[in-house]
Amino acid sequence: MKVMAAVKRVVDYNVKVRVKADGTGVDLANVKMALNPFCEIAVEEAVRLKEQGIATEVVVVTVGPASAQEQLRTALALGADRAVLVESADELGSLAVAKLLKAVVDKEQPQLVILGKQAIDSDNNQTGQMLAALTGFAQGTFASRVEVAGDKVNVTREIDGGLQTVALNLPAIVTTDLRLNEPRYASLPNIMKAKKKPLETVAPDALGVSTASTSMTLKVEAPAARSAGIKVKSVAELVEKLKNEAKVI
Ligand code: AMP
Repeated sequence: MKVMAAVKRVVDYNVKVRVKADGTGVDLANVKMALNPFCEIAVEEAVRLKEQGIATEVVVVTVGPASAQEQLRTALALGADRAVLVESADELGSLAVAKLLKAVVDKEQPQLVILGKQAIDSDNNQTGQMLAALTGFAQGTFASRVEVAGDKVNVTREIDGGLQTVALNLPAIVTTDLRLNEPRYASLPNIMKAKKKPLETVAPDALGVSTASTSMTLKVEAPAARSAGIKVKSVAELVEKLKNEAKVI
């Protein structure tokens, strides 16, 4: 079966994000970009399915600027077979991305689509769910274990009360949680091989999808700086301050 993994180019998780002085967004000038960590887990899971002989082909897809080819090459170096870049320089909302991914799903007909549970730039946690609604596929979100069994996939999900296992009919959508697997590092020979793997670029128009936004960003602000704490000398003083100054007890 064909497995598709959706990946996003984001600011590297080690970078301290700065807001632009004019408040129009996050400053991306000279900032290190990377594959979203949850998407790396999605690619790893897809590649493992191929290594187990369950998947026959792993296709990675991203919606983003031309520079997102870099992240597609990373995914190819991790073991994906082929990549698709839906090229758009615009900052697209989750619904537009989900519609574009749906168009790619229609074209590619994967049996399993794996996404990250969230992108660490906007923390939206909604693209996978939107894609499931648009395609009508079953969804298993926040997966910590994925097991394909015949025409079903059993997904163990991390939920507030513990673990829940759902059996989904294929084709299905899975979103990855942190504990699903530990992604491998790409080896140098695989990085070299990835340069020769096929990478197709398509425009949103060619997929027949309008990416007109339904929302606009008014302002981006850094969180307010926290004021310094104070040290107290005794428990009695702490209780007195919590009661009379902070008035929380
Ligand atoms: P989000 O809903 O934005 O938190 O993203 C959740 C997941 O959806 C990500 O981990 C990706 O797998 C997928 N996704 C989000 N944005 C994109 C994009 N521009 N291109 C491809 N996949 C995306």
